[in-house]
Amino acid sequence: MAEHDSEGLGIGTRLVGAGRRAEWTGSADHPGAVVNPPVYRASTHLYPDMAALRAHPANEDGKFYYGRRGAPTQWALAEALTALEPGAEGTVLYPSGVAAIMGALLTVLRPGDVLLMIDNAYEPSRAMGRGLLGDFGVETRWFDPADPAAFEAAICARTKAVLLEVPGSLTIEVCDVPRLSAIAKAHGLTVVLDNTWASPLGFPALVRGVDIAIMSLTKHVGGHSDVMMGSASAGPAWYRKLRLRAQGLGNVVSPDDAALMLRGLRTMGLRLAQETGSALAIAEWLAAQPEVAKVLCPMLPGSPGHDIWARDFTGGCGLFSFVLKGGTCAARDALIDALALFGIGYSWGGFESLATPVDPAPIRTASPWPLPGLEAGDRFGVRLSIGLEDTADLTADLARGLAAWRAAL
Ligand SMILES: *Cc1c(COP(=O)(O)O)cnc(C)c1O
Repeated sequence: MAEHDSEGLGIGTRLVGAGRRAEWTGSADHPGAVVNPPVYRASTHLYPDMAALRAHPANEDGKFYYGRRGAPTQWALAEALTALEPGAEGTVLYPSGVAAIMGALLTVLRPGDVLLMIDNAYEPSRAMGRGLLGDFGVETRWFDPADPAAFEAAICARTKAVLLEVPGSLTIEVCDVPRLSAIAKAHGLTVVLDNTWASPLGFPALVRGVDIAIMSLTKHVGGHSDVMMGSASAGPAWYRKLRLRAQGLGNVVSPDDAALMLRGLRTMGLRLAQETGSALAIAEWLAAQPEVAKVLCPMLPGSPGHDIWARDFTGGCGLFSFVLKGGTCAARDALIDALALFGIGYSWGGFESLATPVDPAPIRTASPWPLPGLEAGDRFGVRLSIGLEDTADLTADLARGLAAWRAAL
C-alpha cells in the first residue's frame, strides 16, 4: 500500500490505512506484502556486528533496539493512534488505561505540586490521588465538573496540572473542556484528559486545548472485551517526555495485544456509530418511562452537558446512565438481575451490552449527588454499555428490568 499523507481523508479511510507502513507489512524486496503488521515476538533484537551495536540510533521511534522499546507491531499501533489524533506528535502505549493515566501524571507532576482532578473522574484515577500520588508528595484536590469558576478558584501557586474526564464516569456529565483548558493555560497548568468515552473520533482533544489525551484502549479500540491497554497522545511539548517516563517505568505492551488492538481499531468507527445510534434510541425510550427520573446521556437533549456535547463533539458512544425515581438499592439490583441480554460486569465498549449499578454518593467529594434537579431519593442509577445487539431486543429487556423494579418496591 502506498504511503500517503492522511490529511483531508475521511475518518473511515484513515482508520483503514493508519499504521500500515509498507516497511512494517512486508520485506525489503516486497514491501507491504501483507495487510496487517505481523506479530513480532521479540525481547532480543540482534545487530549484524559490533559497529552496528555501537552505532544504534539514540532512542528514536521506529528503530529496533531491545524488546522493551517495541517492534513494528507496537509501533504500527502507536503510529495509527497518532494519525487519528489531530495535533499529536506521537503516542505512548501502556499495559492498561490506568497505567496510561498514572504514566502521564508521573510525567507532569513533581513532589510538592498540587493536582486538580474533576470530581466525576474514574474511581481508580481518584484512588491515585488519594494513594500513590500522595505517597510521592503530590496533593490532589477535586472540583465540581459543572463549575469552571470553582475550578479557577481552586488553583494555587503549587497547582501544576489538571486531570479532566469528559464525560465523567458513572454520571456521564459533560464538562466544558475548552473553557477549563483556557483557564488552566492562563495559570500555566498542564491539561491531561481521559478521553476514553469519545475517543479522537468524537472529541479531538488536543485541538480543544488539551496537552495530553489518554484513552483506555481496553474499551472502544479493543472493542471485543478480550484485551487491555492504554495510550497517551501528545504534541511536541509532551510526547518525548511521556515516552521517556514510560520507558523509565518499564512500560511495554505485548505484540499479540497490539495486533488485537489494531484489529479492533479498523472497525471502531462502525461500532461507535452503531452503538451511538442505539444508545440514543434506548435513552429516548428510557426517558419516557415513569420509573425513570433522569437519563444521563450526552446525546440526549436535556441531559446534563448536552449543549456542550453538541457544540464540541463529533460523535458519541454506547455508554450512558439513568437514575430511577426513588426506590431502593434492592429494587435497582432486581432490575439489573432481571436483564437477560445485558451482562453484569465492569468495563464497557465491547460488542456486547453490559449493565452496572451507579452509586456516586460515597465517591464524589466536591459536587452534589443526586444531581441538581433531582429529588433527594432519586439516587439509584444504572449504567448501560450498549453493544451491537438489536435495539428492540435491548429495549424489551430493559422493560423486563423495570417490571422487576416495580415488583421489588
Ligand atoms: C476503564 C477506564 C479506564 C481504565 O482503563 P483500564 O484499561 O481498564 O485500565 C480509565 N478511564 C476510564 C474512563 C475508564 O472507563
